[in-house]
Amino acid sequence: MTSISGKTDIDWGAFARALAPVEVINTPVLVKKRSRDFFWYSPILNAELKSCFGDLVARPRTPDEMRHVLAVAYAHDAPVVLRGGGTGNYGQAVPVNGGLIIETTAMNRVIEVGDGFVRAEAGALMADINAALIPQGREMAMFPSTQDIATVGGFVAGGSAGIGSVANGALRDPGNIIALKVQSLDATPREHLFEGVDTLHIHHAWGINGVITEVSLRTVPTRDWVGCMATFDRYEDAYAAGHALARDEAIACKLVSTADARICAYFPRLDGHIRKDRHLLVSLLPQEDVAAFRALITQEGGHVDLTLTEDERIEAKLPHVFDFSYNHTTLQVLKADRKATYQQVGCPAPPDPRAIARLRPQLGDDVWMHHEFARVGGQIVTFDLPIIWFSGRARLDQINAIYEDNGFPVHDAHTWRVEGGGLKTADYRHLAWKKRLDPKGLLNSAKSAAWDSVKHLSAAEIEALETAQ
Ligand SMILES: Cc1cc2nc3c(=O)[nH]c(=O)nc-3n(C[C@H](O)[C@H](O)[C@H](O)COP(=O)(O)OP(=O)(O)OC[C@H]3O[C@@H](n4cnc5c(N)ncnc54)[C@H](O)[C@@H]3O)c2cc1C
Repeated sequence: MTSISGKTDIDWGAFARALAPVEVINTPVLVKKRSRDFFWYSPILNAELKSCFGDLVARPRTPDEMRHVLAVAYAHDAPVVLRGGGTGNYGQAVPVNGGLIIETTAMNRVIEVGDGFVRAEAGALMADINAALIPQGREMAMFPSTQDIATVGGFVAGGSAGIGSVANGALRDPGNIIALKVQSLDATPREHLFEGVDTLHIHHAWGINGVITEVSLRTVPTRDWVGCMATFDRYEDAYAAGHALARDEAIACKLVSTADARICAYFPRLDGHIRKDRHLLVSLLPQEDVAAFRALITQEGGHVDLTLTEDERIEAKLPHVFDFSYNHTTLQVLKADRKATYQQVGCPAPPDPRAIARLRPQLGDDVWMHHEFARVGGQIVTFDLPIIWFSGRARLDQINAIYEDNGFPVHDAHTWRVEGGGLKTADYRHLAWKKRLDPKGLLNSAKSAAWDSVKHLSAAEIEALETAQ
């Protein structure tokens, strides 16, 4: 068997035989399919990553099978990339160095629903976990809008926030990730338990420093959720209403998003349900808070277009409201036109509609704002995931500079290095744990720009760099 990636010098036939009885996939077209994620949102990442493929896929079903796969990979010095649902946007799950892809979706049991938490195998789909929780009156504190195909391990390793974050904070906030079981990639893979704040050693490391096999996450009481949409004549009014709604303690929202009217023109499934050419506010809130929502929207100068219980939504054959939030908003536009892309931009706190109004004309007609509201340290913050009509790197840099000059920090969505986006600088705690759990540096190492410069150091020396920076 030859190398599909063209980057490895491993006998992949012998490798596959050594993995038995673990299921493997070696058909090139299927291996190539599993080498991709949603990096194509970015034309820059698309150009850089579209020709990067793995060589073989393994699908372990149990922690013991996972241990076996990792021991074989270690013995062959094989580069390894973990893959859940493959819904990441930055090529996190792309095997840049070729090698083995370990797909976790066969390790998908919901193990325990406890008092305020759920424990599941890493490959469990977020939607399946919610389905197990809801009959017991609970739900996940937050989940990505990709919950139907995203795994809980992929969310912890690659995600950051989602539906629920306006109430319960980001994934990294205290109490949201309760515990992680993580296997090392060495001669005899061992299992490590990370609890409480120590889970941050592994969270958002893109699978470079250990293999998550089990996740315990916080749960919250479920409610009778109603999907709500309201429209506004001016974007800054939609944004102001979003802020008023998110901080109103009498309304228990689990989602608040706003989108420029030009983006809504790409939502054909909402035709006839929301007013045309208006700026949109999307929310999910409990049935008993709908009257207060209506009053708030009227007071903020908006118009309530839609309030639907889950049964009414199904009856009306409409998508979930969260299909118009987070990176699903971008997806709706990309479905119609692949020239669109996006960016990730922080906003000064507290949210200020006047700052948004000042910034909009500076950005130009190729940047259409879309904000998500979330809670950080108890305060409401917003971040912008604008649609950008891509015309080249130079214009993108210019757009980034306009945001930054106005005090809106850009967390670049067009880089496949873990340090390039949200992190900005190296996370030496992540890299110290990489040294401990992945001594040969086989786990998704290309994704860390800093790894090469520290891999010769001991774990303690790498960790010391964290306090020095
Ligand atoms: C339309 C759309 C909407 C989105 N909305 C959101 C959102 O609301 N919030 C959000 O945070 N993200 C969002 N994302 C990004 C992504 O969907 C989520 O982060 C999702 O949870 C990733 O899960 P996954 O199983 O697809 O992970 P994958 O893409 O398969 O993997 C993500 C990263 O985690 C690593 N990994 C996977 N499993 C393991 C494991 N068991 N151990 C160690 N490392 C592992 C992979 O190597 C990769 O680096 C969105 C993406 C799209 C395309």
